[in-house]
Amino acid sequence: MTKPELYAMNSADWEYEYSAMMRNQKPGETYPSLTPFYLVDHPEGTVLIDTGTSYELLEDPADYGPYGAGYVEEFAADEIEMSEDGKAVNRLAEIGYEPDDIDIVVMTHLHLDHTGDVREFPDSEFVVQQDELEYAWWPADPIQRKLYVEGDFGVFQSPEYDVTAISGEYDVFGDGVVECIPTPGHSPGHQAVKVELEEAGTVILAADLAFTQRAYEDELQPAFAWDTEHAIRSNRMIRNLERTEDATVLLAHDREHFEEFPDPPESLV
Ligand SMILES: [Zn+2]
Repeated sequence: MTKPELYAMNSADWEYEYSAMMRNQKPGETYPSLTPFYLVDHPEGTVLIDTGTSYELLEDPADYGPYGAGYVEEFAADEIEMSEDGKAVNRLAEIGYEPDDIDIVVMTHLHLDHTGDVREFPDSEFVVQQDELEYAWWPADPIQRKLYVEGDFGVFQSPEYDVTAISGEYDVFGDGVVECIPTPGHSPGHQAVKVELEEAGTVILAADLAFTQRAYEDELQPAFAWDTEHAIRSNRMIRNLERTEDATVLLAHDREHFEEFPDPPESLV
């Protein structure tokens, strides 16, 4: 492999309540979303970006993690459809990658639909914003508290897991190909990942910066955003970057954005 390749895979289909994700719009309607994750295969190493939703959490919420997460059953479980094939490790296996082939895992943030398979990568280096790590353990906001499941990321406390806490921008390989860009607002340590590809150009994996293209254009934030003002500022910063770098911005939960990626084993190059 001589040039970077970018793969997108989906872990679960998640039917979100539209008004919760796009501030007060269309109350009572749902939005058929999904919870993807990405892989960059770079000549210097492999980078997984997020790890999708947890199959084990959905199977047995009451016994998930040290204290269980039974509340997930009430607030989300019937909105989610996931099979065991959707586990990040299983999707990766389908295209020939085992967990110990993954050198680095960049976490855009630590909400439950991004952290599902964290514990499956004990040999990888995790790259997470310091602000996100701190907030994840005790989110002040009661809705945010439901989105951080200790059974997902509690292993970061284990000395067996290698976690690099970053503060600000971070160039993963030092060559500008995979860069973390802080975009606080959705959560305190939310970050986008900018990927430079030879043919597809600059792709910004913007995660939950906004939920859909429309939310991105109209600056509509979810009702549960950690800080709406920060989120709107981050949204404008990425829109500027999109313009100045002629980038393609892809949001995690916009189904049309996901469909712009080729189906693995095809990749963007
Ligand atoms: Zn989120």
